Amino acid sequence: MGNQNYNINTRIVKVGHEDSNKASIPPIYQSTTFKADSIDALSTQEYDYTRSGNPTRTTLQNHLASIIGCKHVYTVNSGMACLDVILSNLSPGNEVIAGTDLYGGSDRLLNFFKKRHDLNLNQYDTTNLSLMKKVINKNTKLILLESPTNPLINVIDVKAITSYAHKVNPDCIVVFDNTMMTPLLMNPLELGCDIHYESATKYLNGHHDIMAGVLATNRDDLAKNIFFVINATGSGLAPFDSWLLIRGLKTLSIRLEREQENCMKLANYLQNKGFKVRYTGLKSHPQYKLHFSQARGAGAVLSFETGNIKLSELIIKHVNLFSTTVSFGSVSSLISLPLKMSHASIDKNVLAERQFPQDLIRLCVGIEDIKDLIADLDQAITLAKRQIGSKL
Ligand SMILES: *Cc1c(COP(=O)(O)O)cnc(C)c1O
Repeated sequence: MGNQNYNINTRIVKVGHEDSNKASIPPIYQSTTFKADSIDALSTQEYDYTRSGNPTRTTLQNHLASIIGCKHVYTVNSGMACLDVILSNLSPGNEVIAGTDLYGGSDRLLNFFKKRHDLNLNQYDTTNLSLMKKVINKNTKLILLESPTNPLINVIDVKAITSYAHKVNPDCIVVFDNTMMTPLLMNPLELGCDIHYESATKYLNGHHDIMAGVLATNRDDLAKNIFFVINATGSGLAPFDSWLLIRGLKTLSIRLEREQENCMKLANYLQNKGFKVRYTGLKSHPQYKLHFSQARGAGAVLSFETGNIKLSELIIKHVNLFSTTVSFGSVSSLISLPLKMSHASIDKNVLAERQFPQDLIRLCVGIEDIKDLIADLDQAITLAKRQIGSKL
């Protein structure tokens, strides 16, 4: 890992690989099998079958280990497959703590394991540190954290929770979903977490053309358990997708920097319009200081409340530049109404309990010209307000 002498923006571009033909770009090993020199050699060869290992996937994993600055990286075929690999290593009855304000897919998978595999799952408000200190105990086997959450943009104190958990139970595995921040803006392993995973479908790949997930750890024992499940089930990232992710990753810094800059400008624009904006880049965010004590940037996802669900729906109807779709992290800007889209599967009573604002609009900001993005939102807001006004 000689690359560690370079800064992250350089490490992101510099892909280490060896090729006998001196190709500048790592080739794709689009092969499921690798030939043996002899029957005896098979057991010592690095590659025999792509479910177990593939040179293109290895190049990607080594590259990500250099970017993250960690010992072990595994890439799988979705962000959710990361959590599946982690939960598959637990046993029935194991105590797991997770947040209430979690990514919808994580919530669904955790509750599936609770129902079908008797996981002792308990979900709490992870932003409440004193509550977390009450519920974490010596039997807590695993804690799943996410910060900032999405779309409510809540921040949790990663260091405080992680160090407390390890003090109470040194064997407690603290897992962090870093999809919103990426290794460019946040390093969960350096904050004390045991496993960092994220959906590479979002910022890491950045073009919404592949699904992928990344698992990172410095612990040899956890790496071994992670690899066991990937090898046993075949969730390792396919060679072609590995190759595309190597390509997508190279522009991570410039994409995310522009997206973040655009997002900050949109946050200010919306706040000046009088909307309640949730974005960690704004000093008005109640956890602004906490966020910047553990991250280097605010990312490029914000949400805002309009005060009226009909007004929110009309704004979404009238924008032209922002596509109405789920997900984030692509170069183009997206808009959504979480209550009716990403959070539609969550029980209405649960959403009410969590005080989920019905009128909440989420923006995932791309790299377009900020003047066009603001002009587009501005005309949509004006039109939507006029229609609401004419109905009153
Ligand atoms: C999208 C997302 C995931 C799941 O990733 P997929 O690649 O869609 O499976 C997990 N966590 C967060 C925070 C996400 O945004």
